Amino acid sequence: MTRDEERLQELLEKQQAGLLKAADRYEIPSQPMPAQDAVRRRSNIDEVALGYTETQARLEAMRCLQCKNAPCVQGCPVRIRIRDFVAAIAEGQYDQALSIIRENSLLPAVCGRVCPQEVQCQETCTVGRKFRDVEKSVSIGRLERFVADRDKGGSLPKIAPPTGKKVAVIGSGPGGIVCAADTRRAGHDVTVFEAFHKPGGVMVYGIPEFRLPKAIVQDEIDVLKKMGVQIVCNFIIGRTRTIGELMKEDGFDAVYIGVGAGLPRFMGIEGEQLVGVYSANEYLTRSNLMRAYEFGKGSDTPIARSRRVAVVGGGNVAMDAARTAVRLGAEKVYLVYRRSEKEMPARIEEVHHAKEEGIEFHILQNPKRILGDELGNVVGIECLRYELGEPDDSGRRRPVPVAGSEFVLDVDTVIVAIGNGANPLIQQTTPELEFNKWGNIVVDEKCATSMKGVYAGGDIVLGAATVILAMGQGRTAAAAINEYLTQP
Ligand SMILES: Cc1cc2nc3c(=O)[nH]c(=O)nc-3n(C[C@H](O)[C@H](O)[C@H](O)COP(=O)(O)OP(=O)(O)OC[C@H]3O[C@@H](n4cnc5c(N)ncnc54)[C@H](O)[C@@H]3O)c2cc1C
Repeated sequence: MTRDEERLQELLEKQQAGLLKAADRYEIPSQPMPAQDAVRRRSNIDEVALGYTETQARLEAMRCLQCKNAPCVQGCPVRIRIRDFVAAIAEGQYDQALSIIRENSLLPAVCGRVCPQEVQCQETCTVGRKFRDVEKSVSIGRLERFVADRDKGGSLPKIAPPTGKKVAVIGSGPGGIVCAADTRRAGHDVTVFEAFHKPGGVMVYGIPEFRLPKAIVQDEIDVLKKMGVQIVCNFIIGRTRTIGELMKEDGFDAVYIGVGAGLPRFMGIEGEQLVGVYSANEYLTRSNLMRAYEFGKGSDTPIARSRRVAVVGGGNVAMDAARTAVRLGAEKVYLVYRRSEKEMPARIEEVHHAKEEGIEFHILQNPKRILGDELGNVVGIECLRYELGEPDDSGRRRPVPVAGSEFVLDVDTVIVAIGNGANPLIQQTTPELEFNKWGNIVVDEKCATSMKGVYAGGDIVLGAATVILAMGQGRTAAAAINEYLTQP
């Protein structure tokens, strides 16, 4: 028996005897996530976080105080009964734990990996609050992943008898997947239209394999297909067909729009047109969806080999791009971010991993212009140093440039990861829909748009947000569609 197994045994015996106190739970060390070696993983795209062992999962679950008011549930956007599923893990009841999660979340293996738990359920965890350190909170996401990974799948959800109604789901991201599953369960004939040649949305084209293995997303797509959902790829709504045509000519009774926020923003500075400047979206799509990392061995859209790379931004997208550049063989990768590390929107774990992989953080710095040679190739990026001023509208302290602080980083590639906006295609081709000034679709609390029978959710409504929020809206919209289609 290992020391951890012995410790678990002792705790279980104490619990059975009714003697386990909060103090005992506080003493259980927070279980670290086993991970691939930082040097080795620089040259492969395999998943970095390897998942808890059974002993680790049960020890971690025993750290939970089982608070009566369960503040963690309040922190979860889809209100998973966290306290109950964690208790089930502590008892070794993994199937029960998974059933509890599945009541509110359809993609636990995905959410366990990519949800920003430290600003959601784990932020409000009493254990973390006691230690005044969110990293000491019960690792709810890792526990969610643990039970999801043990699931061997198999059983399909029950489908109601055919209703004769047709639902079109536009976009196959997390919101689209959930909406398709929930409307199909109600017995409707559901078709998902996807612009790319592979379904899965950002989970496939954006988030890299080393953070979210594509086989996990593929399993969910396969479940949809087995449920009888049709998935039509290479089909761009607004080009191949419009929403009006789907409804008036193709017989669709209801539509869910889940097209995400796929339009990259640029900085608008000199040199952004040079060869070697990418949006993070393009860079990641080439690598993830088109297997550019194979460098010609099977990839139709290869990517130029970079030696020195600057990634601009401080969110998950920037971390993903920087870590992908490392794996694509760059010798030096800089991450240039205009605020301090405290303001970085990226998940803490991703920041840790990026640093371990040798990415050099240039905090409180921002590009002024990108420098090119006579052939139009990037040769450097001129940056300015910044300091933090008063808080801005977002509540974060505003970065203020320090005059005369210019310096140059010698790079051949610049990846811009400063955010994404809404693609205007749906807006241009659907005049009946109401949009806000940022180009996001306006919906009510049921995710209904201004167009009868048309619902929307995820990033196209919320702006670039998160997987779990998109899933939540997919579910809300599906419930509203099911109600709408049963009206006489
Ligand atoms: C690189 C990256 C990393 C991220 N990391 C995280 C993370 O760690 N955790 C987290 O919670 N969130 C993360 N996010 C955000 C998260 O992925 C998104 O919030 C979420 O995927 C949005 O889901 P969605 O259902 O709105 O659609 P999306 O996932 O954006 O998918 C939309 C789909 O619609 C398709 N589409 C677009 N236009 C059309 C059209 N006209 N016709 C047909 N199909 C169309 C697109 O091709 C795409 O497949 C990340 C985002 C990116 C880009």
